[in-house]
Amino acid sequence: MKKHNFSAGPCILPQEVLLKASESVMDFNGSGLSLIEISHRSKDFVEVMETTRSLALELLGLEGKGYTALFLHGGASMEFLMVAYNLLETKAGYLNTGTWSDKAIKEAKLFGEVIEVGSSKDENFKYIPKGYNVPSGLDYLHLTSNNTIFGTQVKKFPTTDSPLVCDMSSDIFSRQLDFSTFDLIYAGAQKNMGPAGTTLVVVKEEILGKVSRQIPSMMDYKAHISKDSMFNTPAVFPVYVSMLTMQWLKDMGGIPAIEEINKKKSRLLYSEIDLSPVFDGYANKADRSHMNATFNLTDDKLKETFDSMLKEAGINGLNGHRSVGGYRASMYNALSLESVGVLVDIMSEMERKG
Ligand SMILES: *Cc1c(COP(=O)(O)O)cnc(C)c1O
Repeated sequence: MKKHNFSAGPCILPQEVLLKASESVMDFNGSGLSLIEISHRSKDFVEVMETTRSLALELLGLEGKGYTALFLHGGASMEFLMVAYNLLETKAGYLNTGTWSDKAIKEAKLFGEVIEVGSSKDENFKYIPKGYNVPSGLDYLHLTSNNTIFGTQVKKFPTTDSPLVCDMSSDIFSRQLDFSTFDLIYAGAQKNMGPAGTTLVVVKEEILGKVSRQIPSMMDYKAHISKDSMFNTPAVFPVYVSMLTMQWLKDMGGIPAIEEINKKKSRLLYSEIDLSPVFDGYANKADRSHMNATFNLTDDKLKETFDSMLKEAGINGLNGHRSVGGYRASMYNALSLESVGVLVDIMSEMERKG
């Protein structure tokens, strides 16, 4: 039986994407060769890379606006340091909204001064700080748009005169934003775009080349741009599957269409959390993530029953992260409204038992 996959990452991908991807592993486009045994310099793969890069810009509405899309190695974690390597000359601002921004801050401190413009550490990152002051003249301001672990999401981005950098790993392509207000966006593929192994970086070229330090080639965005994201052998399979997922998204109407579905899914789940006396939401209501919903049982004695009901219904990946506990339902783009419906049915059955 196919499971309802609420995994936080690596995460669910569309069935049709998995099918096409598995076919291409055996025979890529009828070439008699596997996608993963051909040269990345072959015409066929160069076309995959170029299509993937332009689809990313197209979906974000950033074509012809001075941005480049790259598919790099090392995960979002590598971008924590690459961003600083390429952009941090003296001081940068970071909004600390949880584990991932914390890790980004740690790396940036190796390169220059970091000003934490705001933090929600005082309440274990239950909320997104607001009304914080952003000093002017920063090398850049860094935010994490969606906090995968704590289940919070930035709804309104600050205005700043500095370049705006955003880790969008867990909500890329899930909601409409004016993406042109960002100067650099990065996202590990495995949350909402493809398998683990590649990272999307969308960068406005004019912000590069301003730091005085020497940058090793593999860390240098300019080196990757000049080689069309093929400075070294790219992660051919993750890039290809990301392309298929983006095509799937484009065919259904792009970000506006998926946002509607994502809203329905999260509304359904959060209304159950709010109405039910046996469940408590973790994140502050105003800052709740549409992608990762965090919640707890009000009575831990119900855990065994609830867990076995989840298992029986084929629900996978609902355990909360160890730093929050409880449950976390990740509702990425490829998760259907039906799957959320199955979860909500079980939660309301739990309410009757509880
Ligand atoms: C998962 C995640 C990361 C880390 O991604 P890796 O690709 O494993 O390095 C960083 N930021 C956010 C918001 C994440 O959800």
